[in-house]
Formats: sequence, C-alpha cells, structure tokens
Amino acid sequence: MQKYKFKPAVEFIRDFELSKQMSLMIVLAYIFSVAVRFYWVYWAGNYPEFFWNDELMISTNDGYAFAEGARDRIAGFHQDNDLSYFGFSMSILTAWLYKIFPFSFEEILLFMPVYFSSLIVVPIILIAGEFRELRAGFIGALIASAANSYYNRTMAGYYDTDMLNIVLGMFVLWAMIRINVKKDQFCLFYIPAFIMIYNWWYASSFSLNAGFLAIFLFYTLIFERKNLLNYQALILSLIAITYIPMYAQILIILTLIALFIYKKELIDFKYTLIIGALSLALFVAMGGLNPVIFQLKFYIFRNVADSGIVAYKFFNVNQTIQESGIVSSKIFMERISSNVLVFLISFVGYIFLCFKHREFIISLPTLALGFLAHKAGLRFTIYAVGVMGLGFGFFVCHIFKILDLPKLATRISLLIITLLALLPAWQHIKDYKASTVFYNSEVEVLDKLKGIANREDYVVAWWDYGYPIRYYSDVKTLIDGGKHLGNDNYPVSFSLFKDQISSANMARVDVEYTERGYREKFGNKITKILEDYGHKPKNVDDFILSLRFKNFIPPKPTRDIYYYLPDRMMRIFPVVTQFSNIDIKDGKSLGEPFFYIGHYYGNESDGINLGAGIFLAKDWMSFTINDTKIPINTLYTTSYEGEKLSVNSVNFDNNAKLHLIFMKDYGRFLIVDDAILRSSYIQLFVLENYDRDLFEPVILSPATKVYKLKR
Ligand code: MG
Repeated sequence: MQKYKFKPAVEFIRDFELSKQMSLMIVLAYIFSVAVRFYWVYWAGNYPEFFWNDELMISTNDGYAFAEGARDRIAGFHQDNDLSYFGFSMSILTAWLYKIFPFSFEEILLFMPVYFSSLIVVPIILIAGEFRELRAGFIGALIASAANSYYNRTMAGYYDTDMLNIVLGMFVLWAMIRINVKKDQFCLFYIPAFIMIYNWWYASSFSLNAGFLAIFLFYTLIFERKNLLNYQALILSLIAITYIPMYAQILIILTLIALFIYKKELIDFKYTLIIGALSLALFVAMGGLNPVIFQLKFYIFRNVADSGIVAYKFFNVNQTIQESGIVSSKIFMERISSNVLVFLISFVGYIFLCFKHREFIISLPTLALGFLAHKAGLRFTIYAVGVMGLGFGFFVCHIFKILDLPKLATRISLLIITLLALLPAWQHIKDYKASTVFYNSEVEVLDKLKGIANREDYVVAWWDYGYPIRYYSDVKTLIDGGKHLGNDNYPVSFSLFKDQISSANMARVDVEYTERGYREKFGNKITKILEDYGHKPKNVDDFILSLRFKNFIPPKPTRDIYYYLPDRMMRIFPVVTQFSNIDIKDGKSLGEPFFYIGHYYGNESDGINLGAGIFLAKDWMSFTINDTKIPINTLYTTSYEGEKLSVNSVNFDNNAKLHLIFMKDYGRFLIVDDAILRSSYIQLFVLENYDRDLFEPVILSPATKVYKLKR
C-alpha cells in the first residue's frame, strides 16, 4: 500500500523528465528539418530569374491557386465565376498569416511549407513517446522529415496543402495510439479535433481519416472489446468525418464528450451502442460512402477517356499527367526512405514495431496509402514517410539494445548510423534543383497584362499556366490545374492548334458560353452551342468546319479575350494538340502532326546535326533522317533586330511536306508539317504572322507573347 501511494509522484517525475527530453528532441528535429529546407533558398538565390518582388517565387503550379485565393481574401473581394480559391483553407490561413506577420506576401508563400511541414517531427516523436521509444522517434523524425518525396513536396517554395497533409494525419494517428496506450480521456477531444482540422485543411483527407477509423474499429473489436472509451472515440471520429456543417459537428462532438466524461454512470454500453448507431445512420444519410467510390474511380481506372453527357469523347488528362504514372520499385523505395537499404530496414522495423507495440497497427492506412503509389502514382509516397521513419528508428535502436554496448559506444554508433542513413537524403536535397514555376521575364509580361486587362477579361492559355496567370494578372481563365477535363481542354487546345480564323471563332464562342454556362447552368456546353447554331448533336463536324470561315458569326462579345503564348509551351505543344486533334464523336486521334525541336549539335560530314539522327544538308534545302533524304518546303528564319522580330522565308519545294523554322536567337530548329505551321501558336508566337482582322499584339516579349482578340 505504501508503495502505491508514491506511485503518482514517481510517475509525475518520470513523465516530467520524459517530456523535458521529448521537448528537446522535438526542438532539435524541427530545427534540422527547417535547416535542410533552407538549402534550396540558398541555391536558388543565385538565380535572378527566380525572383519577383525581391523574393524567390514558388515552385508549384497549384500553389498559385491558393495564392490567388489568399490575394483575393486580403483584398476582400473577387469576381463571380473567376474560379478563385477564395474560400479554401490554405488561402484563409495564408491571408491570416499575412495580416499578423510583418512579412511580404511572397515571403509567406515561400516559407510556409518550410515551417509547417517540419511540424511532422512533433507527432512522430509524440508517438515514440507513447511507446517509450523516444530515441527511435528522434531518429525517425530526422529520417522522415528529409525523405525524398516528403522533401520534394514540402520544400521551400512548394506552397501546397502537402505542407500539413502528413503532419495532420500523423497527429490523428498519435491521438488514436495514445488512447489505446494511456486510456487517456483527453483523447476523446484530440481525436475528433485533429480529424476535423485535417478535414478542414484538406477535403481529400477523408480517405485517410476513414481508413484510420476503420482500423481503429477493427483494433478495438480485437484487442479492446471491453473498452468503452474506444467506442466513444469511434463515435466522435465518425461525427468528425460526417458531411454536416462544421458548427453542427462541433456542437454534437462537444455535447457527446461532456456526456461521455461527466455522465459516465449514465452512458453504459447500451447507450453508447445506440448513439453509435445513430451516428452511423447520420454518416450514411449525409453521403459518407460516396467519396470512397469516387476516389477509386479516378485513380484506379486510368486510360478511360472521359466522356461528356452526350456521346462526345475527349482526350483524358490522366493519360498525360506524370504524377499518376506507374512507379518503378527503386524510385518508389527512394521516395519513401531516400535509399533502398534504408527502406528495407525501415520496413522490417515497421513490422517489428507493430508486434512490439500493437497499437502501431493503427498506422496501417497511412502506410498502405503511401504504398499505393506503386499502383496509383508518385504523389502518394509521402503518406508512408512518417511511419517508415519510425520503423527505421525502432529497428536500429533495438539492435543496439540487444547488443548491449556501453552507453557511449551505443550513442556514437546510433549517431553514425543516423548520419549515414541521412546521407542519401542530403544528397537528394543537394541534387534536387527545382526551378520556380515561371521565370521573372514571364511574370513581367503577366504583370504588364494586369495593367491592361480587366478583371472580367479572359486569357486563353494552356491549363498549365492558368493559376499563375490568374495570380499575376488577375483575369479569368478557361482551364487551369484543377479544371482540365478533356471537354474543357478541347476548345483551348483547338484555339492554339488550329488556323487563326478557327482559333479566333472558337475562343470567342468558348469564352461566351463558358460565362453563360455559369449563369444559366445549361450543363453541356457543346450541346447548347450546337443547338444555338442550329446543328444537330451528331453534326458537330459541320459546326467545327463553319469556324474556319470569316463569315462565321461569333456570339456578341461581353469582354476582352487575350491569348497567352509562352515560349515554354513549345516543348509540350505536341501534347497540347492531342486534345483537339481528335474526332470527338468517337474519341479517336486524327493522326500525329510532325513536330521536332532540334538544336545545333555540331557540323558533321552528313550536315548539321540537329539531334535524334536528323541532319540538315549544307545547303539547308533538305534533311536526312536514317539516310533518307527529305526535302524542305519552306525555310523560315526568325531573328531579333533590337526589340523587333524579323522573319525571312525562302520557298524551296512546294510539294515537300516539312518546313524548317530556324529561331536564331533561341538557338532552335523547328521541323514542322503543314498542320503545325498553320497553327495559331506557331503563327502568332514564333512568326508573329497574325491576321490583322483577328488579332492585335499587346505584349511581344521573346519569353511570352500576348495578343488581344478582335472578334
Ligand atoms: Mg480575379
């Protein structure tokens, strides 16, 4: 009895020591994680083209969507149907940080990922603390925070929701582990709180939260069947992921917590079961099961051309996004643990950890989501990083426990092993020379456009440039990083790929019907256009053909339209054309146009080496490809005389299929067929050969050209 009396005091002192040690480890690991992320800032600082407003620009395209949203929030307004991320959590947080801190907007965007993503060390060390494996947690935190994929997606300038996605997931995991280890009532608050914050931050966190909830239920049924606290936590978690307004969630959750804690005598198993059944009914009734089905559809069924409501078939973006590509095993392992050996050790450690501390089984969904990368694409690997880091820390610490070396020898060995394991990650960080999304020369153009275009005007540009254009120019766009289904891309691709008359007509039609679509909600844009122009849905070809003529009557303009034609689109131009070079009646490609970008690789006996086995004859009148001689139709030479572009053309052979465009100042040779040569992008950007009736040049920078549509 005497002994028992002292237990709380002893426990208190031990816990105090533990938390002191834990705090120190958290601080050190956090500093480490922040410090490695400063390498990029230091490296990129040497490149003036990465700067805008005296600060480095961000390196993630999607980030500009949130940046636009935050900018609009700070301004306090935005335009109807401008697709601004005005109400997104990250925009809200960013605007809020901007208001309370004395930093520039650019600085906040640049450094948010650094400081937020580094918080991952906190839940990792907290979880290790629950298992009294602090040292393993510290090593794990270092390994995880610097792991390749985690670094890539949370480095300075990678302004994206990823900065907190893993952190918040790990906090949910920590709270679920703690309630099982400590039977701590406060977890009834932590668990739903972290789930709700995660959900608020990132709507797609639903899958992971639902996964945690499922495994928590499973774990409870096997190991904690008689533990009322677990069922109560399950109910609260379920409410936290139910689609009801947030205030209702908070109200229900707080009421239930109060009941569970202060009315213990009342809430027995029977009542808990009833409350649980009611919560489940609410969850299902509010459509809780729908997203599971939807998510599977998007990522697992690749290669399915997405089709509009009518039978039109468009080219699916999934077919071109690298993110959802299949990953090789080595890359997969390196992305999670920076190195194959570290990955294998981590994995073995992970399994041991699940046996030694069975509560860790609850981490399975996040590991599984990370491993899903093998099937669904690189973007998922970051989910496995935290728990695999812990696996590594656990494994090496236990080996040394077994070896039972003297204290100092153990410490030194652990230090050396940790440093060795971090070496590949450090190497990766040094080699990973991410460039900013845009160069300063391009932003200059957009900044100028901001002063010219109205906020309601549209900019026709490929979806890759949608968000940054909206951020820097405050205009509207047709497609962007989030709106790029085949049917959205088709008209824009069409305007870039087709001749100038077709292009101009399509741009006007698409802009006006896009705006009308928002207001009139007529669903299928193409059907509506065909109907208004008096074509039957099956005669879509007649409509497309009619665009080719100047006597086509486009809708009455309600605003200005600008074309944004950047040099950087050159290398993806063949991909851009794919979206409109199809027969939308059956989704089949209309063939592949010829487009090759060559550079000067030396003067050889066969002629000028343009790469890919292509040689330009000394007289510039033909090529040889694999010893086959191919005549050149027309040679165009573009060069700058001061600010002005001059274009010379020499016609050699009217029957020849290919043309050569020598862009002198770019050091580039374009070999193109008729279709590409005729395209509005080549005519307007490369040759500045615009139809005076249709276009008016607004900004002609060598990096990017902007034209105003006169239709
Ligand atoms: Mg706007």
